[in-house]
Amino acid sequence: MKRILVTGGAGFIGSHLCARLLNEGNEVICLDNYFTGNKQNIVDLMHHPYFELVRHDVTEPFMAEVDEIYNLACPASPVHYQYNPIKTMKTSVMGAINTLGLAKRVRAKILQASTSEVYGDPYVHPQPESYWGNVNTIGPRSCYDEGKRCAETLFMDYFNQHNIDIKIVRIFNTYGPNMNPNDGRVVSNFIVQALKGEEITIFGSGNQTRSFQYVDNLVDGMVRMMGTQRGFTGPVNIGNPNEFTMLELAQTILDITGSSSKLSFKALPKDDPQQRRPDIAIAKKCLDGWEPNIQLREGLTKTIQYFEEVLMQEPQIVQA
Ligand code: NAD
Ligand code: UDP
Repeated sequence: MKRILVTGGAGFIGSHLCARLLNEGNEVICLDNYFTGNKQNIVDLMHHPYFELVRHDVTEPFMAEVDEIYNLACPASPVHYQYNPIKTMKTSVMGAINTLGLAKRVRAKILQASTSEVYGDPYVHPQPESYWGNVNTIGPRSCYDEGKRCAETLFMDYFNQHNIDIKIVRIFNTYGPNMNPNDGRVVSNFIVQALKGEEITIFGSGNQTRSFQYVDNLVDGMVRMMGTQRGFTGPVNIGNPNEFTMLELAQTILDITGSSSKLSFKALPKDDPQQRRPDIAIAKKCLDGWEPNIQLREGLTKTIQYFEEVLMQEPQIVQA
């Protein structure tokens, strides 16, 4: 049995990761400050004898004897990471320094949840790990993109300078149950709008693309990455290369839900990347046969079921 720390463990991805690690017979310490995370995501794990929950902010040092660390703490939705950009940057940078410091002290293996946002608005398509990206240093997305880029640098420096067993995964747009209805990212927005019969908010023309990955495939890739041999640091792209425009995504969600919501076109946010698709050759080769096997319709159907249940529990506003 390993003792594993998951920072950001009460968030969308973290909650799935905690469940998977417990199921595999590990002891899990879930650390979170609940900025975008939610106890509801991990309520089913609370009674597990090997699950421990700690309210803590990764910008402050943390001490625990652990074998492995997954560093996920950071708001991931543009609405939330832009709410307090200085705090977002601190979370990425100080969070990396503090978790790497802990890894060094207890000689733990440590994995960084990096992002496809390190490629910015990419000129190379699809994006291989060797592409250095096209990121604005002073735009509204910079606190997140540059924070994550700096964290990658720190991870490699701790590997080169202190021989810490580090792993970096670059996660592409991921969706699934446990996303917050108010998360603000496109999949949860469109599903909630479709289920409530509200207008579907398309930013820009809707012809920009993303490649959407179901959360189980991501968690599997992360666990496999942690299991690779010392010295294999990555970065490794983890994503589903099937690429869709936002208009196609909206149409698929309308088809599955049977909703008659209309599309409503809004301004495109500044620096919104035009296209994104992972090159996953390295992941396929190095992560023991890993491949995303849950495609968009199947994954959306499961996610829509989840949101139907969540929305049913919302207090109803009764009109007088
Ligand atoms: P999320 O917002 O649901 O989860 C982030 C978690 O981190 C939340 O529980 C939040 O409360 C916690 N957190 C934030 N700041 C913290 C702090 N200072 N101290 C302690 N906890 C803090 O987002 P998610 O989608 O689950 O993302 C998890 C990680 O994966 C993030 O690091 C994100 O950058 C990365 N990622 C996600 C995606 C995606 O599509 N979901 C894509 C690329 C990268
Ligand atoms: N988007 C949209 N409507 C929404 C939310 C997002 O059209 O209600 C678009 C957004 O402009 C972007 C894409 O969907 O082009 C993905 O946005 P998201 O915030 O999910 O992720 P990111 O831009 O960080 O990849």
